[in-house]
Amino acid sequence: MTNQMTKQKPLPRRDFFKSAATILGAAIVIPSLFKNLPEASAEQKRASKDPGADSLDILDEKNPTAMSLKYVANHATAKDPLLTVERQGVAFAKQACSGCSLYQLPGEKSAKGSKYAPCQVMINQQKGSSYYVSANGVCTAWMKRQG
Ligand code: SF4
Repeated sequence: MTNQMTKQKPLPRRDFFKSAATILGAAIVIPSLFKNLPEASAEQKRASKDPGADSLDILDEKNPTAMSLKYVANHATAKDPLLTVERQGVAFAKQACSGCSLYQLPGEKSAKGSKYAPCQVMINQQKGSSYYVSANGVCTAWMKRQG
């Protein structure tokens, strides 16, 4: 009697292969489900530091002050001969908002893969605060940052 109770019935061959196939399938599928988790987590972290352009008061090139100072958000698109000149011994190619003393570096933020910071001359009169300008922008008021 004891012998009969402890003896287990062998797994039929067909059931064995079914179970083996299920385990093998799970071994292949499950790791691929988790494969992108670190990437997704990094993206979430990046997004939390990136407030998005919509939350920043970003200067529009069509803004009257921006237009009067020939501001462009992308240095590479600058064409105006009044803008593309040497200033304070710095060739135009080396001028950008990021190197301007009026670009408020401590307030720099990232949005949509670019950096922006408040500019001391680009003021939103309605809000009483500075517009954010692109680190890669430039205007005729560019002033070499000291130090
Ligand atoms: S004043 Fe300086 S920081 Fe402001 S838009 Fe002009 S170049 Fe950029």
